[in-house]
Amino acid sequence: MIIVSKFGGSSVANADCFKQIKNICDSDDNRRIIVTSAIGKSFNDDNKITDLLYLFYAHVKYKVNYENVLNLIKDKYFQIKNDLGLKIDLNKEFEYIIDNLKQGEDYVVSRGEYLTALMLSEYLGFDFIDAKDLIVFDYNGKVNYEKTYSVISNKIDGSKKVVIPGFYGSYPDGNIKLFSRGGSDITGSIIAKGINAIKYENFTDVPGFYIASPKIVNNPKLIKEITYNELRELSYMGASVIHEDAIFPIQDVNIPLHILETKNPFEEGTIISNNVSDKGNIITGISGKKSFVSINIQKNKSSDKLSIIEFVLKVLKKFNVPIESIPTSIDSFSVVVEEDKVNKNLYDIIATLKENQEIEDIKIDNDIALIAVVGRNMVYKPGISAKIFSILGNNEINIKLISQNTSEISIIVGVKNSDFEKAINSIYNELIK
Ligand code: ASP
Repeated sequence: MIIVSKFGGSSVANADCFKQIKNICDSDDNRRIIVTSAIGKSFNDDNKITDLLYLFYAHVKYKVNYENVLNLIKDKYFQIKNDLGLKIDLNKEFEYIIDNLKQGEDYVVSRGEYLTALMLSEYLGFDFIDAKDLIVFDYNGKVNYEKTYSVISNKIDGSKKVVIPGFYGSYPDGNIKLFSRGGSDITGSIIAKGINAIKYENFTDVPGFYIASPKIVNNPKLIKEITYNELRELSYMGASVIHEDAIFPIQDVNIPLHILETKNPFEEGTIISNNVSDKGNIITGISGKKSFVSINIQKNKSSDKLSIIEFVLKVLKKFNVPIESIPTSIDSFSVVVEEDKVNKNLYDIIATLKENQEIEDIKIDNDIALIAVVGRNMVYKPGISAKIFSILGNNEINIKLISQNTSEISIIVGVKNSDFEKAINSIYNELIK
């Protein structure tokens, strides 16, 4: 029964954080595999080590004196080493890094998690295993999952407690390769699958997944249990607690993911899994994003709608614009896309669309916010969308667009950007609170 516990940057920001991690590990002997991010922020305006390392490498690359940035980085590690009385020879570690700068940006930036994990393993008395020996990338930059899982299950059997740095792995030639930002979440998830963990814990600086964003709703409740599919719907529409790519490895094998707050590790947090027992709430969460554009196409009455939709989609594909929704009516349809994905090419796109004689008119509405109301328990329950629409109507919010696919797990409504916050608050207040 092995638990993989991943600690984010703010959970390893200083010596007190290290002590808190020790308390957390001591409280459950199944916490045997620890994955860590690099030292993060202790306070709001503090620097994250990863950001400093990118900056440091830019100095190296453009041959600008890097001493000041390097000292900022060193200070953070030395502070923790000294506060905790660790033996690690940081001078030697930094000398080695400086001697190896030619290994490139990914190598240099990965040293953030590498050194943090070395120090954490010494402090906890756990073994250290380098992620470069566990996470295998192919030369195309994609993780070779098959190889990675087999390496992990050969190297880790849970008999020893270990600390592993997140965020990177290596190419077959041993060169370091980073994941995208926030990628330690992915490392933890891959390790959890590789060793068939009973749970993947993700310790962070929020108490779990909120029903609606606390930036919009005052003091929202937490989601206690949520399915992976619901999480994906909510994240797609803007809610974020965990790296998107961290979900696939564990969702496949149904390893539950537990989001917990490092400061309050004994609170409930949020559990994400494929089978959620709680049938209580109809709505699991509400999320949304502003700034969408709707391209409304009016076709000639006699022309074939299907081939025009096909034409419009091809044009958008050519300009690399992903599509959010395509509401249609008899002689017109709209294609809703994200503003920043379409903005710089909008006039070229319209010009290309106008070349098609079968299109009578094109109108652009660039004042749309999308709100997703998500809930596994909405399936087969009539009347939920009616409720949402009447809440919005009663609050004088005009609905510009409605979309729900047949999985019925989410209902999406489009409103004016300026109605976004009001709409989320009204739905939350009337359906959740
Ligand atoms: N340290 C990396 C970042 O800041 C990776 C991580 O924390 O997950 O993006």
